[in-house]
Amino acid sequence: MIAILSNIDTPRLRHALGFLLEGFSFDLVAENAHIPPGAKVIGYGLESNDALVHFPCLDFPWWLDERREMINYRNALTALPAFGEFDLFGYAFYLLARCDEYLPNAHDAHGRFLSVDCIQNQWSGLGVAYLEEWRGELLAVLGLTEARQVQQQLTVDIDSPFAFQYKSPLKQIAGLIRDVMRFKWDWVSRRIQVIWGGDDPYNTYSWIRNRCSEVQFDLIYFVLCAKRGKWDRGMELDQESGWRTLFSLLHDSDWGWHPSVEGHQNESLFCDELERLKSAKGEKIVSARFHYLKQSMPDSPRKLLAMGIEKDFSMGFPDTVGYRAGTSRPFFWFDWEKGCVTNLVLVPFWGMDVALKNYMQLNPEQAVVQIKEARKYIEGCKGDWRMIWHNESVNDWSEWKGWRKVFEKFLKQ
Ligand SMILES: [Zn+2]
Repeated sequence: MIAILSNIDTPRLRHALGFLLEGFSFDLVAENAHIPPGAKVIGYGLESNDALVHFPCLDFPWWLDERREMINYRNALTALPAFGEFDLFGYAFYLLARCDEYLPNAHDAHGRFLSVDCIQNQWSGLGVAYLEEWRGELLAVLGLTEARQVQQQLTVDIDSPFAFQYKSPLKQIAGLIRDVMRFKWDWVSRRIQVIWGGDDPYNTYSWIRNRCSEVQFDLIYFVLCAKRGKWDRGMELDQESGWRTLFSLLHDSDWGWHPSVEGHQNESLFCDELERLKSAKGEKIVSARFHYLKQSMPDSPRKLLAMGIEKDFSMGFPDTVGYRAGTSRPFFWFDWEKGCVTNLVLVPFWGMDVALKNYMQLNPEQAVVQIKEARKYIEGCKGDWRMIWHNESVNDWSEWKGWRKVFEKFLKQ
């Protein structure tokens, strides 16, 4: 039992404690109240000879009531003092509730929060799992041992289920002409091969599943099943045989929903997408990850909750690698405006194939080095290891030539 000696007791404080002390029983004990015998005591804003460690309490219970105060608090956070000298639970809450994303920041063309606006840039960078490090230090001072099982998971977005199969003859001809005009000869020859019965280069599902079971990684797919638009370039919704084939290929894997870009503007589209996937799966869809990682706080997680989604796998950066909430471990989303914790679990990932190749402009050799270092680091602080890949990025073909070894590095240390 861990006793936190404190004169405050708020949902925010309990949220931070619940995450940092996951797996251990704890309770808040007010000043002069009875401390349970044998309890390991943490002083939070209160001094006590019984405490094994003290943390100062800033104006943490109140500062989030106004955005202006949050900016003040953020300013106070910019230096990262030594462990024990800062408001550990306030810092942890700030990261977990994604408070940075409520501030008046700039956004990219998709309206996404930018990684440069993360407070962690002013500490030791985005690649540090601060919450794992702090938990490790806290458990060590309390003389407790980490017992949490780490998770290794491959998550795959399916934006385009097939490159060439399941297209109408008209689309096939138009695609062929387009490839010729763009001098994409590898596409021209592969398209012809597929038309004559060859394998579709995006049909990597069985191979991915087998690789994951060989290295004992969990696997989950996210399927974009939306009306085609500028950013939603998936398979046509009327391609019944194509969708049947895809769902049969995924039948023994876990999969969830990949909400479209367009659906953010028109909620009925989101409902249609989810309904379609539900009927294909024959059961409730509980996991999702936004296409293009397009999301905004607090609207996006609220929409997911309203639609019955229990886990959102979008917690990461589209343009770089690292830990957006300062952790690799799943956590409950805290609705900062409503001041309460929700049932939606946010599942972080370290990086995405497209971020490494397109945004960070790494070649496969450089990406291998980044992955190797990141995995070694996160294993050292007993965090989870998770990335986003696409069914089209693991086939070692066309623009992804040379990237299979990067994928292999992700799977195998
Ligand atoms: Zn996508």
